[in-house]
Formats: sequence, structure tokens, C-alpha cells
Amino acid sequence: MLIGGGHSHALALLALLRQPLPGVSVSVINPQPTAPYSGMLPGVIAGHYAPAALEIDLADLAARAGVRFVQGTAQHMDRAARLISGTGFDPIRYDLASLDVGITSELPDLPGFGAHAVSAKPLAAYAARWHDWLARCKQGQVSPDIAVLGAGVAGAELAMAMAFRLRDRPHRISLIDQGPALPNIGRFARWRLCAHLGRFGIGLIEHSKPVAVGPDHVALADGRQIAASLVVGAGGTRPHAWLAGTGLHLTKGFVSVDQHLRCVNDSAVFAVGDCAHMTHAPRPKAGVYAVRQAPFLLANLRAALGMGEFQAYHPQRDYLKLVSLGDRVALADKWGLPLEGRWLWRLKDRIDARFMAQFRG
Ligand SMILES: Cc1cc2nc3c(=O)[nH]c(=O)nc-3n(C[C@H](O)[C@H](O)[C@H](O)COP(=O)(O)OP(=O)(O)OC[C@H]3O[C@@H](n4cnc5c(N)ncnc54)[C@H](O)[C@@H]3O)c2cc1C
Repeated sequence: MLIGGGHSHALALLALLRQPLPGVSVSVINPQPTAPYSGMLPGVIAGHYAPAALEIDLADLAARAGVRFVQGTAQHMDRAARLISGTGFDPIRYDLASLDVGITSELPDLPGFGAHAVSAKPLAAYAARWHDWLARCKQGQVSPDIAVLGAGVAGAELAMAMAFRLRDRPHRISLIDQGPALPNIGRFARWRLCAHLGRFGIGLIEHSKPVAVGPDHVALADGRQIAASLVVGAGGTRPHAWLAGTGLHLTKGFVSVDQHLRCVNDSAVFAVGDCAHMTHAPRPKAGVYAVRQAPFLLANLRAALGMGEFQAYHPQRDYLKLVSLGDRVALADKWGLPLEGRWLWRLKDRIDARFMAQFRG
């Protein structure tokens, strides 16, 4: 039972298409028939790609791989009875389960967030809200003011993508963080990213805590009100709350797994991607790990079914971060060595296009 259609599970479906598991019935459950790929998101928001370019067609992939696709949202695991239940489907029994449900960037404790803001994660809901807002903005129905909450790399990338899309019309974008901006990137890359934010006229507000979101503004703890008819939450990396009810061992809400990506207190359950915490090698949340875990997950699911050896996953220490800078330019950051240019955007474009192409029939 594959719960969630995150990057690891999508790649696992692809591997099953090429090499089926004989005698094993596999199901995948996801709220939508498609799952979005984060690498394409800034390009979709900026208008470089059509919205459909964001989506991996899980239902189609599952059908081709001989896997049952279940549209629904898992909300409970009865581990004693080995049952998954949730909304949109009848409870399903499993012998082995794997979780790849990602995270949420919702800020439920921030008053007004649920009513007036949208989270960057889940990606597809944000992309849909953006296109709707853009249409209303063009018709003059909403003010062209945007606030992005969370000035990490994702928040900065999305702010620049939206600024690029709005380049032909007056607009105001504020990038707000309760701490310093861009804390998890090299010093030189941070400096370059701040320069690009300035180039787009994006207002950077650091060390200011948002305390409420209204229909047309964000209120800050220091009393300021920042105009915004679109508020995007790009800060939180929160685990899904329902995981707490599974009885699985959690680390800060994320499922604790060992080097075989197996839950430390349940050998019938695996977890990968952002929802997992690798106890043997903790890493920040990034799609690159979800992608690299896929072959290990599949090998270890096979091993758990008595078809081969367990394989230990040892994640790389660092990885090449390619950040889109709104227009068709990207910045790369690895080992504190930043580079930028159009060629890097073309490289990112090629990597992302190749990643998506492998899923098409
Ligand atoms: C703007 C932005 C840019 C980013 N750029 C990069 C980048 O350049 N490089 C990088 O490495 N990382 C990047 N990331 C991070 C990257 O998006 C995540 O690390 C990656 O998506 C994690 O993949 P995943 O497999 O954990 O699951 P996700 O891709 O998060 O997918 C989870 C899936 O599970 C489904 N799901 C959720 N809950 C349930 C449930 N209860 N039941 C069933 N299904 C469920 C969801 O609908 C979704 O389809 C970026 C993130 C953002 C927001």
C-alpha cells in the first residue's frame, strides 16, 4: 500500500511498470489523480510553462504499472489490524505500507490564515489559487498586492516568479520573515538572491512576526499592516497532523525511519520523502532526497517480501540547489560556490523536463 503520490512513490510506480512485483497486489492512494512536481512550480507561476506541466499523472502511471489507484486522503492507520482508512475510500488492508505524503506549509496557529491565505504546499492548490488571483487582478477585481510569508529559498523563488509574471503592471510584493531571510543558503548566494529581490522591487521584511491575516492585509507584531490581497505561506515545514495518531515513532512530527527507510517501531511500515525523518542521517526537507530514496524503497519493499537483500540508504551531504530567478535565469549553490546565468536556467529546465518526461506513456 503506497500512501501518497510523492516523488518517491511516483518513481516507484515507474520502476514497477518496468519490473513488476510478481504475485504482489500494489495500491497507491492520493487525493488527486495527479501529483505536482516542485521543480516545475516557479516556472508555472512565472508563466514559462503551462499549468499542466506541473503534474505527474499518477492514475495513468498506476494503470500502466498494473497498480490500483485509489483517490482519497489517508487519515488513520490501525496498525494492529493493518488497515488504512480516510476520506474518499473504504478502509484497505495492507501487509506492507509506505508513506510518502510530504508536508504542509499551512500556518493554522496564525489567525485568519485558513480563511484568507494559501499555502505553497500542497503545490497544486497554490498554483490554482495563483491563476485565479491573476485573472481577477487583470480584471481589476483585487488589488495587485501580494505577501509571501517565509523568506526561505522557496519563498524567494515564488516571490520572484510572481513578480516576473506581473512585470507589465504595477504591483507590490512583500516577502516577510520572523527571522533573517534565506538562512539555509551560502553567504554569497544569499547576497545575490537579495540583489535579485531588489531588482524585482520585492520588499524584504525581516525579523517581523506576522500575527494575523485579513482579507486585504497581513498584520505584523510591530503594528504594521502590509497590504495583500494574496497571501502565500511558504515558511512552515509542518508534518501532517494525522501522523501523530498512527502510533508510529515520530521525530518532531515526522516518521522516524532507519537506514532501510523502515519505521523504527514498525517493520511493516516504510516512510520516504519530506514526511520521513532519517534517524541515521538527518537532512533538511528537499525533493532531491525523495527522488534518491526511490530505488532503495523499492529494493527494501522487495526484501521485506522475501525477494532480495535490504539496501541501506546513505544520503549525500549536500546537493546542487538550482534557484530560478523569475525570468529565465537561475542561480546555483553548492559547497558555498554560487553561479548564475541563463545557462543554469537551461540546465534546470533540461533536468526538470527529463524528470517529467519519464512519467509520460
Ligand atoms: C516553491 C518550492 C520549490 C522547491 N524547489 C525545490 C528544489 O529545487 N529542489 C528540491 O530538492 N526541493 C525543492 N522543494 C522541496 C520539494 O518540493 C519537496 O522536498 C518534495 O516535494 C518532497 O517530495 P515528497 O515525495 O516528500 O512528497 P510531495 O511532493 O510533497 O508529495 C506528497 C503527495 O502526497 C499526497 N498526500 C498528502 N497527504 C496525503 C494523505 N493524507 N493521503 C494520501 N496522499 C496524501 C499529496 O497530495 C502529494 O501528491 C521546493 C519546494 C517548494 C515549495
